[in-house]
Amino acid sequence: MAEERFTGRPPSAAVAARLPPGQHVDDGFPILTVGPTPAIAPDDWRMTIDGHVDAPVELTLADLRALPRSEYRGDIHCVTAWSKLDTSFTGVSVDALLDRVTLRPGATHAIARSYGGYTTNLPLGDLRGGRAWVVWEHEGRPLARAHGGPVRLLVPHRYLWKSAKWLAGLRVLDRDEPGFHERHGYHNDGDPWREERYSIPRERREWQTATVVATRRESAAARTLRLAPATPAAHVPGQHYDVRLSAPGGYTAERSYSAASSPLDGDWVEITVDRLEDGEVSPHLHDHVVPGDRIEVRGPVGNYFTWRGQAPLLLVGGGSGVVPLMAMLRHARHVAPSLDVHLLYSVRAPEDLLYRDELGAETTVTYTRRPPPGWTGLTGRLTPDVIAAHARPDTAAFVCGSHGFVDSAAQALAGLGLDWERIRTERWGPAGPD
Ligand SMILES: Cc1cc2nc3c(=O)[nH]c(=O)nc-3n(C[C@H](O)[C@H](O)[C@H](O)COP(=O)(O)OP(=O)(O)OC[C@H]3O[C@@H](n4cnc5c(N)ncnc54)[C@H](O)[C@@H]3O)c2cc1C
Repeated sequence: MAEERFTGRPPSAAVAARLPPGQHVDDGFPILTVGPTPAIAPDDWRMTIDGHVDAPVELTLADLRALPRSEYRGDIHCVTAWSKLDTSFTGVSVDALLDRVTLRPGATHAIARSYGGYTTNLPLGDLRGGRAWVVWEHEGRPLARAHGGPVRLLVPHRYLWKSAKWLAGLRVLDRDEPGFHERHGYHNDGDPWREERYSIPRERREWQTATVVATRRESAAARTLRLAPATPAAHVPGQHYDVRLSAPGGYTAERSYSAASSPLDGDWVEITVDRLEDGEVSPHLHDHVVPGDRIEVRGPVGNYFTWRGQAPLLLVGGGSGVVPLMAMLRHARHVAPSLDVHLLYSVRAPEDLLYRDELGAETTVTYTRRPPPGWTGLTGRLTPDVIAAHARPDTAAFVCGSHGFVDSAAQALAGLGLDWERIRTERWGPAGPD
């Protein structure tokens, strides 16, 4: 088994004791956001507390600053398996905010709303008792826009998707009502210590063995692994699998990889892995895994960044962000060969181009650093004009890549009048600004 050669980077016993199951430490602060990043000037920011209360209130940042300051120092945990230790956020406790309203009898839950339309639900018990904050500073500095600035919710005892960024309000309810991710396959409660990541059927939540049936070099830094899970399940294009490697001694490391293949390609699923020089898992999947090896997988998971036949379809990928988009393109070729679909694909240089033999007339490539000799096509970053040439207000857009790439493409699409639900984004890559 490939795992026999995997050593990983087990944390010290002291750190391991602070990590919920399946989590690893990331010293940066990755950005995972649904949709474009809203831009709200601190002076314009408002939040409301309404719903099952006697008299709704609206608060400005100055109102919040007038309340007793409260700081959270500790760890935060993202459902994508990274944790950040010893971080600090400053703001006010949600208790102090809820004290500003009179809850009606029977109030049990709240929905947090974000600028942009995102929502997430929490029992009032999770918001009270000094366990939740509304914050505007991170590590002593104004909270970066990418991380939810000017003001976000912070509920550190739950996975971070419960800590709504760009907070616009809390609506108090007399019942539970699922929020955005909770409607799209994520667990209703999201307790990291109970590993409440997904609400999908049990067989997709549990780890199973997959045999590596083939591997393929895709580009200078990317390799495709064809995996045959013991119990195959058809994925929806855009979904991902979690991959877990075990080292002798019991240490495990897990990461997510999007399906690159169409579910109609076969009883297997392909993933394409970019090799990160200083990474823990991706170098192992590149350098040591060979056909016949078995690795553990869980999935398919994810229910939002999924293509379910929407058209016209615009796929916008940067670097390895093209992987889930390729699953959509491959699947569209099976099920809807005449679909109105376009792929805008941004890569640094020719040696980085993935799936080069499969890209057809529906694809526009731009080279951001170095085009191939004799290239007459696009160079440089994707501009709003190029995006506008392939989008209509009724386009369903899927954008995937690094944070900066996704953000500028999503802003361009929003500028064309596409509404939030039509611009689906997935981000991975280096950590964002602190
Ligand atoms: C839903 C989802 C789907 C994903 N699909 C894919 C996929 O199809 N293909 C794929 O290759 N990856 C994919 N990823 C990313 C993947 O899960 C890992 O994060 C990646 O392989 C790095 O893992 P690692 O253990 O090698 O590096 P780590 O040890 O986790 O990271 C080392 C350092 O590099 C930083 N870093 C992480 N990613 C990048 C990057 N791209 N460029 C520069 N620095 C980075 C980290 O912040 C960290 O500081 C996906 C992630 C998610 C959340």
